[in-house]
Amino acid sequence: MVENENPREQDAGWVIITDGKKRLYCSHPMMRTEGFLRKLYYGAIEAKERILSRPSCRTCQSPMEIYERGHKKAYYWACPHHREETARWDNGLSCQSLKRARARRKKRLYYRKQRRENGQTVGKARLIRKTWQRTQLVDRT
Ligand SMILES: [Zn+2]
Repeated sequence: MVENENPREQDAGWVIITDGKKRLYCSHPMMRTEGFLRKLYYGAIEAKERILSRPSCRTCQSPMEIYERGHKKAYYWACPHHREETARWDNGLSCQSLKRARARRKKRLYYRKQRRENGQTVGKARLIRKTWQRTQLVDRT
């Protein structure tokens, strides 16, 4: 369910959650700099905690599934039969993981704010990656 993915020759790694076929969750890229393995390790622990405490629908008791709002890496849990039945993405995280996740988001917010203030683009890496995957289909030159 949890694996380190690095199929492209890039200086980054990701933590992903799959159901064996489909990629359900993909973390922000982690650069192969100092602390890379530690970040990957904690990311994997986090993903494991989420899966082990997978919430159930209050109406039909079905296990909820992972959904993403737009393509913003804003994940949440919802029942596939009752989409109004949702649970927070951080559901079931341990105290330590919650603290780490919050610190990471805060850092990212700060980073994005800085980039905006400097007139730089924000969140472009993901688009570039997507384009990369589609280069055989779409010619963007
Ligand atoms: Zn349901």
